[in-house]
Amino acid sequence: MSGAPDPARARELAGRLAAVRGRVAAAAAAAGREPAELTLVVVTKFFPAGDVAALAALGVRDVGESRDQEAAAKAAALEPAHPDLRWHFVGQLQTNKCRAVARYARAVHSVDRVRLAAALSAAAGAAGRELDCFVQVDLAAALGAAVDPARGGAAGADVLRVADAVAAAPGLRLAGLMAVAPRGEEPARAFAQLARTGERVRAEHPGAVLLSAGMSGDLEAAVAAGATHLRVGSAVLGARPAAR
Ligand SMILES: *Cc1c(COP(=O)(O)O)cnc(C)c1O
Repeated sequence: MSGAPDPARARELAGRLAAVRGRVAAAAAAAGREPAELTLVVVTKFFPAGDVAALAALGVRDVGESRDQEAAAKAAALEPAHPDLRWHFVGQLQTNKCRAVARYARAVHSVDRVRLAAALSAAAGAAGRELDCFVQVDLAAALGAAVDPARGGAAGADVLRVADAVAAAPGLRLAGLMAVAPRGEEPARAFAQLARTGERVRAEHPGAVLLSAGMSGDLEAAVAAGATHLRVGSAVLGARPAAR
């Protein structure tokens, strides 16, 4: 499963990755930010472990996944040859999957409930690891956009409640906040709202300095708004198989 992809696919990935790195560098320059402040998390969901191996060979260290079984299988397949990969779980997470996720993930970007923080804390303890946690914020309500429950996220006073729970939980480190720009919303406006929410959380938790925001279509707006972690999938890997 971790076999290298054919040379044509490896070349395609190299070209797409270079283009994305170029976009990130240009966005950083336009925003007057250092590229070193930015972590590119390549979201490889639905693509085979061989693609991840090819990306690792191109210098990718941070890999994002959104489905536990798929992520666990890929992490296990890649661990022997690529022990330095850092796995970021970015999808909706059920409490009964936390134990599995804590075995391979370095970071979870989708912590949106106090109960999930508790389950992740127990799982991190069982795995003997520490997990970097981003509190996922649902920006729709604050922006007056349509709420999409499938996307998850905490809203209003719950953001700080979840952040407090993460900060107090053994085995978890409160890294910062994560959001997806609501559909049909101006990304710049959405990420500005996320940045304001981040300021409020930092008033209570000064160490929560990271912002996970920006995907293939809106990474420039995210960099301009202060994102530190960009979660980019299709711009690097190509279109995902539809309807899954
Ligand atoms: C799939 C996914 C991404 C990557 O999206 P692209 O538009 O393919 O770049 C980013 N964040 C989350 C939470 C995702 O599920």
